[in-house]
Amino acid sequence: MSERLAANRFELDEEESHIHVDQALCRSTGTGAALVAVCPAGVYSERDGEILVDYAACLECGTCRAVAAPGALTWHYPRGGFGVTFREG
Ligand code: SF4
Repeated sequence: MSERLAANRFELDEEESHIHVDQALCRSTGTGAALVAVCPAGVYSERDGEILVDYAACLECGTCRAVAAPGALTWHYPRGGFGVTFREG
């Protein structure tokens, strides 16, 4: 898996994250733990009760959107020209 992920190209938007979490809702709904568990790219991690978001690694698969409680996660595609470009091989 890591070899395949390394074949992708990421254009990082350093001015704007396309992912935001509501820490309180992540805690109260269990969304935080779900995000950490399901993201194939390891974008989410937990430290001292806070959900950290490494949006630069996002594969734009949408899985996190399927497991998040309403309002706990705000996710949109990166601005034009930014984000992941998939490569084969
Ligand atoms: S869209 Fe996919 S890769 Fe990106 S943060 Fe959500 S689960 Fe992770």
